[in-house]
Amino acid sequence: MINVQRIIDEFQELVAIDSPTFGERQIADVLKNKLEAIGFQVTEDEVGKLFGSDCGNLYGYLEGEISGDSLLFSAHMDTVTPAHGKKAIVHSDGRITSAGDTVLGADDVAGLTSILEAIRSIREEGLPHRSIEVLFPVAEEIYTKGSSSYDYTTIKSKEAYVLDLSGEVGRAAYTAPTILSFKAIIKGKAAHAGFSPEEGIHSIAIAAKAIAKMKLGRIDEETTFNIGTITGGEATNIIPENCKLEGEIRSLKHEKAIGYLMEIKELLEKEVSDFGAILEWEEKINCYAYETDINGHSANRYREACEKLGIKPDFVKTFGGSDLNAFARNGIVGLVLTNAMNKVHSCEEFTQVEELIKSTEIVKELMLSEI
Ligand SMILES: [Zn+2]
Repeated sequence: MINVQRIIDEFQELVAIDSPTFGERQIADVLKNKLEAIGFQVTEDEVGKLFGSDCGNLYGYLEGEISGDSLLFSAHMDTVTPAHGKKAIVHSDGRITSAGDTVLGADDVAGLTSILEAIRSIREEGLPHRSIEVLFPVAEEIYTKGSSSYDYTTIKSKEAYVLDLSGEVGRAAYTAPTILSFKAIIKGKAAHAGFSPEEGIHSIAIAAKAIAKMKLGRIDEETTFNIGTITGGEATNIIPENCKLEGEIRSLKHEKAIGYLMEIKELLEKEVSDFGAILEWEEKINCYAYETDINGHSANRYREACEKLGIKPDFVKTFGGSDLNAFARNGIVGLVLTNAMNKVHSCEEFTQVEELIKSTEIVKELMLSEI
């Protein structure tokens, strides 16, 4: 049986470990021991070297008795800031919060806890289960840096369940966006604002004109666009030479995101050339969109697991990226499941014991699935 006290204790234990992005060494060591104690063969890659961290992605394999492909379960090891000195406080109503001065880190410790407890209880009960792979990536919070660099030739599974979605347990995201970011520097010409303003090329004015022509916010039901920062100018008496814009585009359709990015770039290029300025442009694909068939294998398995538990499965779209974006790019389809975390990326982040149990039960059913 799922051991409720053990879930709470393990959640508190893992939360108490500092695991900021690029600082996952300590939690990785603890998780490695826990996985090995359950019976997993565990390896760690060297992906951390790519970004100056001493911790890699943690992979584990546990052979099962039920025939069929193995299933991959994943939760990331890093937490967002403020992440130092976290403490999980269990309240009498079952709510678990931080002390208020840090995030709780249920994102994504709640996911790690559910995966560990699900398989541990299966083993204790001696139940036949699927072959199970786990992948606990580093640096998910920086556009899935860890999972994006993983060597997927080691993965046997074709299906993945990523525990990394806030909201009520039962929800599963089947589609997530491509996220593109860009940096545009408009290079005008400095001149004295009082003596010779006509000799300058006003980079901020060009940026303002261009932004006024852009459609910001929700472009359509599957696409969003934002200019997030604008910086420029040196002093009040100088025509500003440089103005930098940074922004992002998200779309559930990859081609649409690329197309809109090109439109923005062309619009800027036109404004800039009209004023005799120069545009410097950088763009980056942070993650790639995917859409999992909600009548396919992983969705059906999820539906069945929920129904066994009397939980209503709810398939949703998300506008956030997760490690599943990286998995899908490597041919592994699946779902991102809600894992008992709420108000993530804030000091008001919380989880609930009931929800942690529910999430663990779903993971357990998936691991026992025979379809
Ligand atoms: Zn997360």
